[in-house]
Amino acid sequence: MKPTLLVVDCLNDFLDPKGVLNCGEAGRSVIPAIAREIAAARAQGVDVVYACDAHRPGDAEFELYPPHCLEGSWGAEIVPELRPEAGDRIIRKRRFSAFFGTDLDLGLRESGSDALRIVGVCTNICVLYTTADARMRGYGVTVPAAAVASFDAEAHRFALGQIRDVLKATIEGTGE
Ligand code: ZN
Repeated sequence: MKPTLLVVDCLNDFLDPKGVLNCGEAGRSVIPAIAREIAAARAQGVDVVYACDAHRPGDAEFELYPPHCLEGSWGAEIVPELRPEAGDRIIRKRRFSAFFGTDLDLGLRESGSDALRIVGVCTNICVLYTTADARMRGYGVTVPAAAVASFDAEAHRFALGQIRDVLKATIEGTGE
């Protein structure tokens, strides 16, 4: 297996206390673990890909959620603690799954990667649906529980269960 670290939605609107859809303390609390994941990947020569919400004004997703992560805005910026470095890739997405309407799949194939290690937020939304799409495409997926979070603790636990029991991905740790 050749893994890629996928860092999902570690953006001001989700992780900064002033963000429109911030995950609160649960989101803040996983930043150090995500930083360690990124550092470990770089040290091991593992590709780091950031999947980042980047919505357009009037995006259909705003019928479901308040406007957030507008392309080019502060809310759509990666939080300073987790800044990308030269060589990292950034995928801009407009839906929950990092595969939907993006070239993530193509990029992974080009790099010969067949597995994802997924960190970030929210466990029950973009992490879950990205994991589902990865599994449908045959990628191996590992989710370190201490490096994902949600604004909704119960939904976080439910999603980890779905990822483990239904999608048959690997959960590392319990996240408790
Ligand atoms: Zn969004």
